[in-house]
Amino acid sequence: MKITSVTVVLVERPGFSPAFVWRKNLPGSDGRTTGAWLVIETDAGITGFAPAGRGVIFNDYVDRRFRDELIGQDPLQREYLWERLWELDRIERFPAGVIGIIDVALWDIGGKQAGLPIYKLMGGFRESLPSYASTVTYSSIEEFLDIADQALALGYPAIKLHAFGDAKKDALLGEKLRAHVGDDVPLMYDGSAGFDLMDAVYLGNALYDSGFAWYEEPMREFSVTAYKWLGERVRIPLLLGEVTDGAHMSAGDFAASGVATALRTSTGLRGGFTGAMRIAHLADAYHLRAEVHGMGLESAHLCMAIKNTTYYESLVWGNPIKLESLLDSNGNVHGPKGPGVGYETLWAESGVPAGLEKFLK
Ligand SMILES: [Mg+2]
Repeated sequence: MKITSVTVVLVERPGFSPAFVWRKNLPGSDGRTTGAWLVIETDAGITGFAPAGRGVIFNDYVDRRFRDELIGQDPLQREYLWERLWELDRIERFPAGVIGIIDVALWDIGGKQAGLPIYKLMGGFRESLPSYASTVTYSSIEEFLDIADQALALGYPAIKLHAFGDAKKDALLGEKLRAHVGDDVPLMYDGSAGFDLMDAVYLGNALYDSGFAWYEEPMREFSVTAYKWLGERVRIPLLLGEVTDGAHMSAGDFAASGVATALRTSTGLRGGFTGAMRIAHLADAYHLRAEVHGMGLESAHLCMAIKNTTYYESLVWGNPIKLESLLDSNGNVHGPKGPGVGYETLWAESGVPAGLEKFLK
């Protein structure tokens, strides 16, 4: 099989409705943006798709670097093509996600050729997995408690906080939430890199006292040393490596330093399915978990294929919140049907994105 065309279809995305905020000092949800779909066609009549969040930037990379690199190549040589893209990254320093977009489209082709969903092609481990409601930042502790009640009533078995970004206030929220939901509901905390070492230590110890299951990315992830110092000062398990550069290689340092109890992995930030599975297997070598970042079909496939993972992340926003459409009433995500990633299955319900009709056969 050979790649015959590489096309970027720009699409206007309306943004989250309602809009939401993250912790202090971070911008909130995107408003209207220009996204894109990557479309890779082949001489076998199989077409691969992948969504891109920053359409204009991605289109520039495809025009200047990727189209010439990909046309004429065998799309099933995913490991080879991943390495070619990694070589280009040395010069271009791609934003996180760019290599992954191409890798996802290549896996979509591979899945369609095999007639299998991606997770079966990667080697399936399970058919369903529990999720957690991953909150945005709400206005007050009282509103967070209300959202927690809603999440549990909808069927979510666990809750992760993206909280205020204030160590004292977040510690108090953790304490109040634990008292509110009781001891049996798994709770997690995501700091979105909001703290320095002193505040990260204070908050980590407070969350440990409130029985939180993991403490995710409390500081920027560029210093393994700083995390080692944090790990020496807190007992709560640390979930690390969501956003750092360097794909599986930097994830390896978080594992080898002994500081990470679990590694983050994803298609979006870790180089597609290929990069995400490298991290999952690397983590498994050290008996670490590889927890999947972010929601959507791609993450659902990873959750079915990775042995050492425990939850699917399902973002909840607005008030009232809704149960994500990929979940059942017990808050479990299931293996997407495919073949490939299965975007066409979603489009059969929601409509084909403008500009893609001509690529669907
Ligand atoms: Mg996170």
